[in-house]
Amino acid sequence: MENKPIARKLRLLSQLMELHEGNPFKIKSIANAAFKVDKLPYPVSGKSLAELEKIDGIGKSTAAKVTELMKTGTMAELQDLLDQTPAGVVEMMGIKGIGPKKVATIWRELGIENQGELYYACNENRLVEAKGFGLKTQDEIHKVLEFNMASHGKFLFAQVEAEANKLIDQLKGIFPEGLIDCAGEFRRYCEIISKLIIVVGSRDQEIAFSTLSQSDLLADIKAEANHVTGKLENGLNVEIVCVEKRFFFQELFVQTGDDEHVKAILQRAADTIDQPTSEELIYTKAGMEFIRPELREGTTWLEKAERNTLPTLISYHDLKGTLHNHSTWSDGINTVEEMALYCRDELKLEYLGMCDHSKSAFYAKGLSIERVLQQQEEIDHLNKKLNDFQIFKGIESDILYDGSLDYPDEILQRFDFIVASVHSILKMDEEKATSRLIKAIENPHTTILGHPTGRLLLSRKGYPIDYKKVIDACAANKVIIEINANPLRLDLDWRWHQYALEKGVWLSINPDAHRKEGFLDMHYGLLVARKGGLYKERCLNALSLQEITAVFNQKKVNN
Ligand SMILES: [Zn+2]
Ligand SMILES: [Zn+2]
Repeated sequence: MENKPIARKLRLLSQLMELHEGNPFKIKSIANAAFKVDKLPYPVSGKSLAELEKIDGIGKSTAAKVTELMKTGTMAELQDLLDQTPAGVVEMMGIKGIGPKKVATIWRELGIENQGELYYACNENRLVEAKGFGLKTQDEIHKVLEFNMASHGKFLFAQVEAEANKLIDQLKGIFPEGLIDCAGEFRRYCEIISKLIIVVGSRDQEIAFSTLSQSDLLADIKAEANHVTGKLENGLNVEIVCVEKRFFFQELFVQTGDDEHVKAILQRAADTIDQPTSEELIYTKAGMEFIRPELREGTTWLEKAERNTLPTLISYHDLKGTLHNHSTWSDGINTVEEMALYCRDELKLEYLGMCDHSKSAFYAKGLSIERVLQQQEEIDHLNKKLNDFQIFKGIESDILYDGSLDYPDEILQRFDFIVASVHSILKMDEEKATSRLIKAIENPHTTILGHPTGRLLLSRKGYPIDYKKVIDACAANKVIIEINANPLRLDLDWRWHQYALEKGVWLSINPDAHRKEGFLDMHYGLLVARKGGLYKERCLNALSLQEITAVFNQKKVNN
């Protein structure tokens, strides 16, 4: 038995003892032992009782428990407490932000025995009255529960991409003559994927179906009608739809767009579409130009498609440089020179914007004024050395709690451009967050608003903002909004790209790279930018070196 599962069981024992109001000293000593075992640099398994007792922080009675656990796989005391506790209550102790004491109150005073009931109770405002709770705690628990529920079985696009391509290749190996493509959320470049849908068109639907039903491509394979479902090793749900080749494009269309989109198009295609030989034909019949898969969300683009005015979406080759990146000067892994050479030689870009953290970001080795000046000297030196390439002197300035930037004006003036981002005190209501951002946007030194909500997909919701007010302020102050390309962020959310573009705001696809390989995240930023409808004429880093130099200089003159 490894140390981790032993530590986990000890921790659970201490929590259950606390839940059942056991002896506080005993609870503390077992919790300490759990911590200790977890951190030991060697395995405890195989150690004799005498040896265990000698380990600092474990003690006699816990050593006996560990021995029992290693011999029998459990501990009588733990089993006894588990028997007295509903499984849902044990589960609630794993919810972030509520310890055994609060769970005891929820269980004993409110009679709540699982997460579902707890969620319901929050909606009914029942927690507010209980001892040790208040509106704030209730709101926090509510949020965590909502989040747990939402993230169940969901994956980031980037976590799915390689697996999806591998599966497509395997299917092409099985059906070399077949028509095979991804559909659903993945084909629409959704930032979160809950199911991977693949359409397989083959000469004989029945044979394809039975071949797949009996294959070991997926775990937990289930076959029903013409759908084969199962899971990938990482737990991702997969659905393979088998059709005859002649129905392939019709099925691919139906499986790709969201329900609203598919319904709206089919309604417009007056007569039924019989075995279309391409998806383009379906849109032609509906009286509009072809809508690319990533835009097939609801009816957003229908009007434009009918008038033949869909944007030409930005492509990877349009990107000429990369802004907002970190080096060893703050929390990056590579030096400025290494980052620059990678951009020039591997990615064939024309420029790199360095934006290390500012002085308040002490946890990320934020730059003091003195170090800012040193870095700028290094960049001047490198720029003399590098041919046909430019490093811009930027900074990722923290937006402080009052909305101000992190350096005095005379230092801010020295940068070519400034990305302003919030990194600390993320707990804010919408009003506070919005006014904090707007204050920073109104600062004449701010060039780009960085990751506008601070969200981390599937793990942190981000502070709430009034999107319209923030975007309007960017329009009024000519501040560019970042599409942070880190697959965990993808912030500004694509649902707001159109509003920003309509208001005249420019967007910038920024990898926020902390190492060379981080630049490759621009791929994910590009996909969501396309999903948002971005075109190259409004993307800051699609500007050539000459053009972007002019933009930065203009901003300086205005200040
Ligand atoms: Zn940041
Ligand atoms: Zn950053």
